Amino acid sequence: MDKEKFAGIIFNRLAERYGRNLHTELSHKNMTELFVAVFLSPQCSDKQINRITPKLFRRFRTFHDYANADIRTLMRYLNGVNYYKTKARNLKKASKMIEERFGGNIPKTIEELMELPGIGRKVANVILNEGFGINQGIAIDTHCITVVGRLKLSRHRDPKKIENDIMGIFPEEEWGEISNLLITLGRDVCTAREKRCGRCVLADICPSSEVLEPDKENHFRRDINKNKN
Ligand code: SF4
Repeated sequence: MDKEKFAGIIFNRLAERYGRNLHTELSHKNMTELFVAVFLSPQCSDKQINRITPKLFRRFRTFHDYANADIRTLMRYLNGVNYYKTKARNLKKASKMIEERFGGNIPKTIEELMELPGIGRKVANVILNEGFGINQGIAIDTHCITVVGRLKLSRHRDPKKIENDIMGIFPEEEWGEISNLLITLGRDVCTAREKRCGRCVLADICPSSEVLEPDKENHFRRDINKNKN
């Protein structure tokens, strides 16, 4: 089976299992809050971020507020997030740049977002996809790296190379969704520590599966035919 067909089956099965409406678990009520929550998220769990943002968002509401924040005060609000001192400095600088260079508006391309201090490709992809519905790339996190490796969709470990590989096999309109679906699969059954293949909807087609079903071939044929329709 070629990789595009395999990717189609993966997408359909994961969408059927986890739904078509997955979104970030970072709490937010508007674009500024989404930007800040995603900005703070590298090397942190969503829970860690969600624990500190209610207070933070009550105190700081606009990029102007962050740009003009007293750095020690901002650090105090971010305490609890990994690397909070560096993130506080970068958030202040990035907010100043958004004000001065981008007229107070969050940029809408990966390239412009990555000009802001503290923003890498993954963060830029999540902001674009989650905030604006723009699919310029695919957000690759540690869950994606694990799952993509086990499904053998890429032989790389470097997120940028993985992103390139899977952008080539999933259609552009699915890029935002497939990222969320792979992350959800990684959190649910395909964790870095443990493979729970017995509960995985890809168990009969995954090359790393520890559960081999006797009618594997029939599953393939059934899904390929479904994909053609
Ligand atoms: S079958 Fe197992 S290894 Fe493959 S994706 Fe599912 S949980 Fe991961």
